[in-house]
Amino acid sequence: MRYEAVIGLEVHAQLKTASKIFCGCSASFGAPPNTHTCPVCLGMPGSLPVLNEKAVLYAVRMALATNCRVNLESRFARKNYFYPDLPKGYQISQYEAPVAEHGWLDIEANGAAKRVGITRIHMEEDAGKLVHDPHRPVSRVDLNRAGTPLIEIVSEPDMRAPEEAGAYLRGIHAILRYLDICDGNMEEGGFRCDANVSVRPLGQKEFGVRAEVKNMNSFKNVERAIAHEIRRQVELIEDGGTVIQETRLWDADLGKTFSMRGKEEARDYRYFPDPDLLPLVLDPAWVEEIRAGLPELPQAKRARYVAELGLSQEDAGVLTADHALARYFEEALSVYNKPRPVCNQITGALLALLNAKNLSVDASPVPPERLAALVGLVEDGTVSGNTAKTVLEKMAATGRPPREIVEAEGLVQVSDEALIEQAVDEVLAAGPDEVAAYKGGKTKLMGFFVGETMRKTKGKANPKVVNGLLKKKLEA
Ligand code: ADP
Ligand code: ZN
Ligand code: MG
Repeated sequence: MRYEAVIGLEVHAQLKTASKIFCGCSASFGAPPNTHTCPVCLGMPGSLPVLNEKAVLYAVRMALATNCRVNLESRFARKNYFYPDLPKGYQISQYEAPVAEHGWLDIEANGAAKRVGITRIHMEEDAGKLVHDPHRPVSRVDLNRAGTPLIEIVSEPDMRAPEEAGAYLRGIHAILRYLDICDGNMEEGGFRCDANVSVRPLGQKEFGVRAEVKNMNSFKNVERAIAHEIRRQVELIEDGGTVIQETRLWDADLGKTFSMRGKEEARDYRYFPDPDLLPLVLDPAWVEEIRAGLPELPQAKRARYVAELGLSQEDAGVLTADHALARYFEEALSVYNKPRPVCNQITGALLALLNAKNLSVDASPVPPERLAALVGLVEDGTVSGNTAKTVLEKMAATGRPPREIVEAEGLVQVSDEALIEQAVDEVLAAGPDEVAAYKGGKTKLMGFFVGETMRKTKGKANPKVVNGLLKKKLEA
């Protein structure tokens, strides 16, 4: 590779407030068009905005969680442009004086740790939505979303590979979820990312010209879009062309980006301080109160799971990446305090089950205390690890507790040596060739004998006992 990519991300996160940022309209999603509107968010002349305190609280929470410096005085500005979903003709946003600056997030990608700078976090209002009629050349305007509160988190151009951008984005997303300030839904637009991408010859100091890529609706697509954009720019340069500064749209079906418009410059927006809003002045004591109230964040939780609970980095990473999953794990642990087997049951069978049913962990048909009870049954030898999978599926399907299922279906593990020995003897008698081969050194056949014995006992034999007996008999 003779080129190096440079990537900076702009993340828009919709804040989970009950009302909009400058009026009392509901900020909830999915209502009939234009029912959550009032003179303020419709941009009626003479109406005046009033700042939502919750939105400020949430912005400050995010700022502190990402190591930013909180500006005790910030300002709102008008960003002027014309578009039918923007009734005032300007968007209220923070420009020269954002609520927070100079933060960072530590990430891990491609086997290396890295610190990504956060340039700034600012508050702004969202625009409305155009709904295009698929059958006629008609577009309709829905202003329910106009005025819902957003924070924009702008990174430094510190990332060098699509995987780093993915890790950064997942990290920001996880923090927003831990802070409970954003629902994080990428498909519904509650969490959006624009990727700024440029390339430069290896060793060159100056950045290349960047393109801004929009319209990615999943983490995977952000990485794919960036990888594609890097390739496109390198090929363009190698072919003697030049990259132009522009906004490009990602098409996930075609796996390509397409030019949408030339990139506007800040001066095109005629920013100026909004005369309808006072400067936002924060009480330092309030900021400190917010800092003290921050929950344990993903990276701290992950480190604690490793250091105190003895989980592997990888398992701890899986559990803490999603706040709901970490909560589920901790609830299960509060019932049955053996971290490793509880973790294994969650990251293995439970996640497989949820994936297959396309359910989030919050909607798990098996609640954490029931899962904990199942782990207890495995640990005390009542059921085998293998059978546990079946029991979990039946728990999900019927809503019954594990012990009831195990007893009703006769799934109790057989540890009785005499019974298992009988099965082992039958297996060995049925396979004299394999026995001879094993004794001749093909010890891999152990798996075959174990499998046959488990089959004979319908999976209920205690594998430890099976292994012990087979060893004893084959190596006698
Ligand atoms: P806007 O895109 O609204 O003009 P900024 O000028 O603040 O906003 O830049 C947006 C993003 O672009 C930031 O995340 C920044 O890190 C990134 N960026 C700036 N220059 C480059 C570059 N040459 N290559 C890649 N990313 C860049
Ligand atoms: Zn309103
Ligand atoms: Mg931008």
